[in-house]
Amino acid sequence: MDNVSERPDRRPNRIAVLTVHTSPLAQPGTGDAGGMNVYVLQTAEQLAQRGTEVEIFTRATSSDLPPVQEAAPGVLVRNVVAGPFEGLDKHDLPTQLCPFTAEVLRQEARQVPGYYDLVHSHYWLSGQVGWLARDRWRVPLVHTAHTLAAVKNAALADGDSPEPVTREIGEKQVIAEADRLTANTAREARQLVDLYGALPERIDIVPPGADLTRYRPGDRAAARAELGLAGDEEIVAFVGRIQPLKAPDVLVRAVAEAIRRRPGRRMRALIVGGPSGSGLERPDALIELADQLGIGDHVTFLPPQPADRLVLVYRAANLVAVPSYNESFGLVALEAQAAGTPVLAAAVGGLGTAVRHEHSGLLVAGHRIPDWAGALEYLLDDPARLNLMGERAVAHAADFSWAHTAEKLLASYTAALSGPGRAAGILGESQARSRALWRRRTGVLR
Ligand code: UDP
Repeated sequence: MDNVSERPDRRPNRIAVLTVHTSPLAQPGTGDAGGMNVYVLQTAEQLAQRGTEVEIFTRATSSDLPPVQEAAPGVLVRNVVAGPFEGLDKHDLPTQLCPFTAEVLRQEARQVPGYYDLVHSHYWLSGQVGWLARDRWRVPLVHTAHTLAAVKNAALADGDSPEPVTREIGEKQVIAEADRLTANTAREARQLVDLYGALPERIDIVPPGADLTRYRPGDRAAARAELGLAGDEEIVAFVGRIQPLKAPDVLVRAVAEAIRRRPGRRMRALIVGGPSGSGLERPDALIELADQLGIGDHVTFLPPQPADRLVLVYRAANLVAVPSYNESFGLVALEAQAAGTPVLAAAVGGLGTAVRHEHSGLLVAGHRIPDWAGALEYLLDDPARLNLMGERAVAHAADFSWAHTAEKLLASYTAALSGPGRAAGILGESQARSRALWRRRTGVLR
């Protein structure tokens, strides 16, 4: 992987950021809004503070939205009309990429030539738009995948439907076209190379962050009082979109098992977030599950919370559980640690970087309920060790700030602006690269 930090400092003045399928201004924790939304908004603010203006293009999902919103000084959100405002499923979005792209190109055409120095696309749908914009504007394309279909399909939860092969094809195309790719972790960088044929020298590792000014340790009793939670219970929180991939059911089952092992145990699962996707996503289904397991009184649900309330959730909990089947990183794990709460996480994907095993939390291999119940007991039955882990968690999370992420992104942008994509003539090079990649890797198209 390239060490971009040593390159000359040639920073873009203004960039176009593409996030077709979800707005950075949407409330994360439900529907299609999650960590990527937080990532896009937080890095945009940080980039603007460093002198790079950011214009974010996203698909308008309501007729009430103005065409342009100022999200922060130097950060504009452009709500592009492409297809119906409501009722368009994420899987149908590829049908609306043409009108979306047309609007992005028209927007730039209204400006002075060279208005954007670079395009940064998030998720493969945006990458499809991004490479056309890059070719038209003759500026570099930096792409961040956030999640990869091949990785997700290799670790599906029960009841989860696989990502379609068309997504994998689309991802391969974007990965072949992008001038630079950013990956959350070294592991993701390897997946881009091994599964998608990316060129290692084009990948920059850019870890995401947590808002360390907001997510700070605080008084647990006060947080519990504010949220209406009992002061004397063991509280294990799950925070995120309620979907099979995130496995909130594993936490509910593990709490039931721990209570079965020690009847009378005052343990509570606090589930924070809203529905997304298909399968075990309805809180109703989790309520039914808790009732079937006889622990209906030990589970509390909260709808998606804004960040200034979410910090209270993290502080209120003794432990935050992230039992996902896959996470490209897992911002919730970082935020919880920044707020001083250890994390019990599945040993998958980026969680191995986000959580330090036996130091700031615990990583569990697999999703066997006895193992998860045992992990809950191991952590909660030794409050002194848990407190120590909480202190170390704050120190661990301090290494992950959005300021650091933005600096790494700027280094990647600098590399893209100085790289061969531009100098060698973007069109010829990208076509040749794309052909070579298809021949080498896929066998799908020839
Ligand atoms: N989130 C939130 N309110 C909620 C639940 C989640 O703001 O009620 C945010 C949370 O702070 C985090 C993001 O949603 O920044 C989830 O990111 P993560 O990487 O954990 O999961 P993803 O949604 O990307 O799969």
